[in-house]
Amino acid sequence: MKKFDLAVVGSGAGLVVLEAAMEAGVSCAIVEQAKFGGTCLNKGCIPTKMLAYPADLLREIEHAKKTGVSVSSASVDWETLSGRMWKQIGMNRFVEQELEEAENVTVFRGKGTFTGPRTMAVTNSGGTTEEFEADRFVIAAGARSFVPPIRGIEEAGYVVSETFFGEKFPKTLWKSLILIGGGPIGVEFAHIFSALGTKVTLVQLTDRLLMPEEETVSEFVKQQFERNGIRVHTSAMAVSAEQKDGVKVVTVRDTVTKEEFTVEGEEIFLASGVRSNGDSLGLGKANVETDAKGWIVTNEYLETSRKDVWALGDINGKFQFRHKANFEAEVLAHNLFQPGERRKVCYQTVPWAIFTNPQVAHVGMTEREAKAAGLNYHTGVNHYSDVVGGRKMGFSDGDADDGFVKIVADDEKKLLGVHIVGPHAAILVQPFVYLMNAGFKCRQSAVQKDKQAEIKGLRMMCPSTGTYEPIANSMVIHPSLNELTAWALDRLDMD
Ligand SMILES: Cc1cc2nc3c(=O)[nH]c(=O)nc-3n(C[C@H](O)[C@H](O)[C@H](O)COP(=O)(O)OP(=O)(O)OC[C@H]3O[C@@H](n4cnc5c(N)ncnc54)[C@H](O)[C@@H]3O)c2cc1C
Repeated sequence: MKKFDLAVVGSGAGLVVLEAAMEAGVSCAIVEQAKFGGTCLNKGCIPTKMLAYPADLLREIEHAKKTGVSVSSASVDWETLSGRMWKQIGMNRFVEQELEEAENVTVFRGKGTFTGPRTMAVTNSGGTTEEFEADRFVIAAGARSFVPPIRGIEEAGYVVSETFFGEKFPKTLWKSLILIGGGPIGVEFAHIFSALGTKVTLVQLTDRLLMPEEETVSEFVKQQFERNGIRVHTSAMAVSAEQKDGVKVVTVRDTVTKEEFTVEGEEIFLASGVRSNGDSLGLGKANVETDAKGWIVTNEYLETSRKDVWALGDINGKFQFRHKANFEAEVLAHNLFQPGERRKVCYQTVPWAIFTNPQVAHVGMTEREAKAAGLNYHTGVNHYSDVVGGRKMGFSDGDADDGFVKIVADDEKKLLGVHIVGPHAAILVQPFVYLMNAGFKCRQSAVQKDKQAEIKGLRMMCPSTGTYEPIANSMVIHPSLNELTAWALDRLDMD
């Protein structure tokens, strides 16, 4: 049996650790059952954004009317549009090629399952199994779409993101689509297809879309969806599905009134959350603990219940975004291969963006969370129409599509959370992420270090770290959208 110092299971963010291991000269193995590069490259972030950008352009063209620019007819060439996407996905071959050419790594293609604490069997698509042994394992095996228990769904047929970016990718655009799920993935696909001309019906179980967001953000997205012709049903549970006369019909129950109604579409797209890939890994054989939902339990060092097994990315169930997975992989690579102080993963400032229309971005606490934590907090809201940067784009006071930024800060000006809905939200939120993290890494002079020993407490040394003071003390380029976020600070309801 082949033996390695380190084995990585999953070639998404797992590759970051693998590369560090290779650089450190450690003998290693990588196990991957599907295309190299993981979900983000092959079936997630990247292909969706290749489709979302043209969808954004189409919505911008419509919006341009407000600035006096009209385009008589924008047409969609699905073949070119999807061709660009497949080309981007095709980059995975370079990942595989590099691994093939690397010296101290053995590539196992197939499904890896633990057969013991230090052994794993890999079964390839032809059914052949090969077993190997490793001293240390890094599990980065991700998650997959959850299929909710909808009566008749298998017979009716459906797509999930994995099959959409695979064998069920439509040759022509669907005329109509039922999307089940109003989380980040559901709302991105709703935007893509509605902008491209598909009649979209969105069915969401909870009483609002995008549950982790501010209530006002969820409501704003719903209103914009409806303005864009998407039919949105919230507090709505899909109970059964069938095919009737070539059309798919889903019966939906209103969870408040208990009344049932039907929605129809050419296809059903399930975007109802994800489940752990841990069930395929034989984790019990390796004594790796999972929670009730099957996510691998990890601590701040990404250690599992086994001291020589680590888990990162979607499979630990925390903030399922690729940048979070990459960040964890970098921390782990540092801890495994660089001498010195171990780094911890901190989840207080995990940012994210949802590339729907209107775009949504988020970092830190919502007002709801600050309240639940018993904090003394203040909020400030600024609309795009409040700054020239937004007005030049055609947003006027009182417009239904006038997005906003909401800042949540504490009594000491510390940033607790920032929430943006509208154009360029992802770009606008990022400076706040840096600021919030500035609190954790403050450069100190030797004198300060001495003083710190007396005073104890980093905030004393760097009074502005993690607060919004650096923005308040800065010039803001005029007239840019940065004024939207910076001037929200003037609106904080401070005494
Ligand atoms: C449609 C969609 C859009 C998304 N958009 C974004 C976005 O815009 N931004 C963002 O940050 N995130 C986005 N995400 C989420 C992002 O894709 C994931 O958070 C990220 O890919 C997780 O990385 P990972 O390394 O943990 O797992 P993955 O990238 O999923 O990698 C896990 C790998 O492990 C393999 N594997 C699993 N089990 C086994 C086994 N037993 N043996 C061998 N191999 C195995 C899998 O085949 C897979 O390749 C999106 C996801 C989807 C589905």
